[in-house]
Amino acid sequence: MASTGLSLVRRAAEAVRRTPRWQKRLVFFTIGVGTLTYACQDNQVLQICDGTGKKKKVVILGTGWAGASFLRNIDTSLYDIHVVSPRNYFTFTPLLPSVTCGTVEARSIVEPVRNIVRKRNGAFRFWEAECFKIDPANKKVHCRSDVGTNIDGNGEFVVDYDYLIVGVGARPNTFNTPGVTENCHFLKEVEDAQNIRKSVLKCFERASLPNLSEEEWKKNLHFVVIGGGPTGVEFAAELHDFVNEDLAKLYPDVRKYVNISVIEAGGHILTMFDKRITQFAEEKFKRDGIDLKTNFKVVKVSDKDITMTNPATGEIAVPYGMAVWSTGIGTRPIIMDFMKQVGQGNRRVLATDEWLRVQGCEDVYALGDCATIAQRKVMEDVAAIFRVADKDNSGTLTVKKIKDVLGDICERYPQVELYLKSNQMKGFHDLLKDSDGNSKELKELDIEQFKKALAQVDSQVKMLPATAQVAAQEGLYLAKCFNRMKICEENPEGPLRIRGSGRHRFKPFRYRHLGQFAPLGGEQTAYQLPGDWVHVGHSTQWLWYSAYASMQFSWRTRMLVVSDWGRRFIFGRDSSSL
Ligand code: FAD
Ligand code: MG
Repeated sequence: MASTGLSLVRRAAEAVRRTPRWQKRLVFFTIGVGTLTYACQDNQVLQICDGTGKKKKVVILGTGWAGASFLRNIDTSLYDIHVVSPRNYFTFTPLLPSVTCGTVEARSIVEPVRNIVRKRNGAFRFWEAECFKIDPANKKVHCRSDVGTNIDGNGEFVVDYDYLIVGVGARPNTFNTPGVTENCHFLKEVEDAQNIRKSVLKCFERASLPNLSEEEWKKNLHFVVIGGGPTGVEFAAELHDFVNEDLAKLYPDVRKYVNISVIEAGGHILTMFDKRITQFAEEKFKRDGIDLKTNFKVVKVSDKDITMTNPATGEIAVPYGMAVWSTGIGTRPIIMDFMKQVGQGNRRVLATDEWLRVQGCEDVYALGDCATIAQRKVMEDVAAIFRVADKDNSGTLTVKKIKDVLGDICERYPQVELYLKSNQMKGFHDLLKDSDGNSKELKELDIEQFKKALAQVDSQVKMLPATAQVAAQEGLYLAKCFNRMKICEENPEGPLRIRGSGRHRFKPFRYRHLGQFAPLGGEQTAYQLPGDWVHVGHSTQWLWYSAYASMQFSWRTRMLVVSDWGRRFIFGRDSSSL
């Protein structure tokens, strides 16, 4: 034990020594910012809701990243807040893969919802139930709890609202592949992570039973991950470490039969990351003996084998012990039904405007994975933009007239600024040059020249990714808008209305990308910052530890997560199949 402790200290000292000085500063900065943010939030003192019904009623569906972030930041003294969610806790999803292998305990990554509001002396009502229908015409949501609570005993009840905040997230996408739901694990909820862990250990116990053939050993210890995105890759890496660092000592006889496969339909894994990270991850998996099957599409899963196709091999079936399906997300049935009601039935994802308002109905907002922002195209509004800029109705725009409204245009249509930046242009004037070689002489623009100048900017419209970062920023943004509703109704602070008159009440939502991590196992993590900045290695793992510790919602989970990491270094991961 003493030698384990010493080697831990040595490893930690070695890692700190290897970490470049700027990264050490970043780690302390991250912890500092996290601590400061937490302290500021806890110091807010809010009045308790009087519950007289005079306040507008805000109903929040979901307590994930989006719903919890809204709840955490809304001024509960201004509204009558009601929350409906089938879980009475928030889950810190980035650490779910760590729960699958016992690196972190399940209770360390969940925060009771009631705690989030209680800490700030706020008041709200919470119902542990699932909303199964949104009725925007009558401003009601229909909910069902697991427990029979009414006379019929079916647990159904109706909640009316003034404002509805939809943050129900998404469901795993199986692409209707037969047998997936019945035979594969998903990795979306805490229970999923716990079940995966039990299942891995059961496979090892099964493989250790007497009188098994070599085939049976191999089958039981073949762990398959379907999907080479960040979740699938992180899980495969965690599992590899768990097997090699902990289970190999406990099951020495069967260790050599363990095989971890990652099946990916595309040509590479981690395609949302920079190519350097993809390449590093693929090479590392190769070195670690993780069998990476790219260009393989799973077409069927039975309880015994997984059938997949590849242009070179045709259809093959491989026996497996446990499979995790992680191929992305799909729309929940409740959202599909809602989309039909608001005239979005032909879309794949629920669309909101840049203020997170659901298109096609009043007073309903949607955020996080269940919705996407449909950024308005410049070319759809180009004639109206021209009219707004042409204040004296002369039929032409001078550079000065354009400059007067450029700030509003860039705020309303962020693609304009992105286009200028991506083409190394300093200002709108360069855009004119781009469209017209004769630009130096160009003093005035008519509508056709204006259209030509802006013709390409919509190529920069970007869909936001379905990530915790986006969901949390949307929740915070919307809560701030709600907190300032009265002020902004009197003094609108948004950009000029292009199709109407006056200004929008609020500035539109703007996402700030803070970079992303990809843990690759063996204490190595890849980190990609906005722009072209990439780092992979041991030192980034320390950055990952400190960033995720500081992002926890409370000191309780922060301490638990840190102590779980420490426990794992000293005692290894928990390997009971409890
Ligand atoms: P969720 O967090 O899924 O929350 C949805 C909420 O709605 C839940 O409380 C749910 O119980 C509730 N709900 C569901 N149905 C209903 C209903 N009918 N009525 C009422 N409530 C309902 N993102 C990152 O940025 N970085 C990461 O490292 C990262 N790692 C991840 C790892 C894993 C394993 C997973 C699964 C996701 C990860 N993500 C990560 C993605 C991130 O978790 C999601 O983008 C984020 O959770 C979306 O937040 P949300 O609030 O929209 O949905
Ligand atoms: Mg979204």
